[in-house]
Amino acid sequence: MKQPPRANPFRDAWCGHLSAERAGSPARVAGWVHRRRDHGGLIFIDLRDRSGLVQLVFHPDSSGAAFAAAEQLRSEHVVSVAGDVVAREEGNVNPTLPTGAVELDVKEMEVLSGSATPPFPIDEDVEGLDETLRLKHRALDLRRAVMQETLVLRHRIVKAMRDVLDERDFLEIETPILTRSTPEGARDFLVPSRLQPGSWYALPQSPQLFKQLLMMAGYERYFQIARCFRDEDLRGFRQPEFTQLDLEMAFVEEEDVIEVMEDVMATVFSVGDLDVPPPPWPRMGYDEALRRFGSDKPDTRFGLEIEDLSEALAGSGFKVFQGVLDAGGVVRAINAGAREMSRKDLDGLNEVVQRHGGKAVAWAFVEAGGAWRSPIAKFFSAEQLAAASAVLGATEGDLLLFAADQAPVAAGVLGALRLALAERFGLVPEGAHDVLWIDDWPMFEAVEGGALTAIHHPFSAPTGSWDDPAALRSRNYDLVLDGIEIGGGSIRIHTPEVQRQVFDVIGLDAEEAEARFGFLLDALRYGAPPHGGIAMGIDRIVAILAGRDSIRDVIAFPKTASGGDPLTGAPAPVDAPQLRELGVESLVEPATG
Ligand code: ASP
Repeated sequence: MKQPPRANPFRDAWCGHLSAERAGSPARVAGWVHRRRDHGGLIFIDLRDRSGLVQLVFHPDSSGAAFAAAEQLRSEHVVSVAGDVVAREEGNVNPTLPTGAVELDVKEMEVLSGSATPPFPIDEDVEGLDETLRLKHRALDLRRAVMQETLVLRHRIVKAMRDVLDERDFLEIETPILTRSTPEGARDFLVPSRLQPGSWYALPQSPQLFKQLLMMAGYERYFQIARCFRDEDLRGFRQPEFTQLDLEMAFVEEEDVIEVMEDVMATVFSVGDLDVPPPPWPRMGYDEALRRFGSDKPDTRFGLEIEDLSEALAGSGFKVFQGVLDAGGVVRAINAGAREMSRKDLDGLNEVVQRHGGKAVAWAFVEAGGAWRSPIAKFFSAEQLAAASAVLGATEGDLLLFAADQAPVAAGVLGALRLALAERFGLVPEGAHDVLWIDDWPMFEAVEGGALTAIHHPFSAPTGSWDDPAALRSRNYDLVLDGIEIGGGSIRIHTPEVQRQVFDVIGLDAEEAEARFGFLLDALRYGAPPHGGIAMGIDRIVAILAGRDSIRDVIAFPKTASGGDPLTGAPAPVDAPQLRELGVESLVEPATG
């Protein structure tokens, strides 16, 4: 707390501010009963407000009516007390508490509210509390110190973002929440229009098109702490509504956006005390990331890089590998280092492999003299084994893991194995953090039926030759921290011709493109500057900096994994008349319970 509260009938000081300097002076504080102890006729209460705790002491003879009232106090009752700040006797000083050198000798007390017994303790950080219970009683859960510290950190992170961007001439501008679908690749949340029955708003998946329009409008540098909505199946790092630091700049190339974001994020990391190397941060092309780490968000804090053995092991009698090579696939492997793994544990890795579209893992242990102990060793000549070992830098005792498949599948499989091994063998050095940019992305990827879709979104600027649109690259960049994508953006298309070409490739014909994105195409016709931007996932960033596994712990009022809110009961059925007014009819009976 930077300033004392205005003196009013409740208080004139913060609990956490009563220190030895104030000993001998009167003070009035207010807050929640954190803990209560009866000691040989005295009652001690730790009183809590947002600033911290202070010990109150009630004497049977000098505290008057307050003493009797204090006997009735229980956890989380709300009181206002007045008394004298007194220095504690030497032996009673609590060095772990900022106010531990003093206590408030209570003369008067007003009980402002009672409290039922809380369903879980507020005064200690209990592991493994039932999350549904916590979310249902969120006002209590948020009282816990660990939650408060996290939300304070979140505030400081967002403020640091705002401060850096304000210094750099960015304007914070709001964009609509009720809008039209913008394709970021997820399902939209829809809101029916009462005034135009049969028509629907979409909640924004991001402010993408609005921020581009702001550049066309001449605002040069925009940012927003933007709420975004995506109707996806939820995983640990996802929420149906989440918050991005969204920004856009005009007359820029990649370097400009990256430099600004490095400034912002280096500040944010220092706010969160995350020990990350100073910028500029390394860049790695998408293809290289996939080849070496099997991921477009590589965790580069440990080795176990993927090597290609297609050449070293070509022409063998091992039908599985050769069949893949003949079909244009690859044989790749990682040297997991000198590790012991039982047959059963190795078989267990197949589950990881199959989850990533592979069939089974092949393995080998390197023995003295360079021979391989492996079910597949017999298919290869000594020269082939030596060549493969050389590529992998393998020495005695090393465990080698192979994947033979089409390149993208092999990358996914080995990328996942890399992470599984790092987890199992604790390969990430304690406290290590690594941040890097992934750039030079492909523009499109093929979806079922061979159609192309934009990997990020169809507003990123493509580069390369239009002779083969499938091979176009895009001017995208993602920021990756410890193997987690924390943000991404691109230089955008700024001519209507290229924008239409891209729509065409993804199967939006001129009519449909005009119907859905006419406003963008129109603005592009009236003098659009080259522009680009980026968006950072604030919830993820706070979770990492706060050391929380779940982003639900860094959002004041989050949704559960099934998209529900146990606090308010949302989503919830609505009355038939409300639906009728909206021109909407439900095809399903709402689920109960
Ligand atoms: N709108 C993009 C997203 O939300 C980010 C960007 O390209 O700026 O992923």
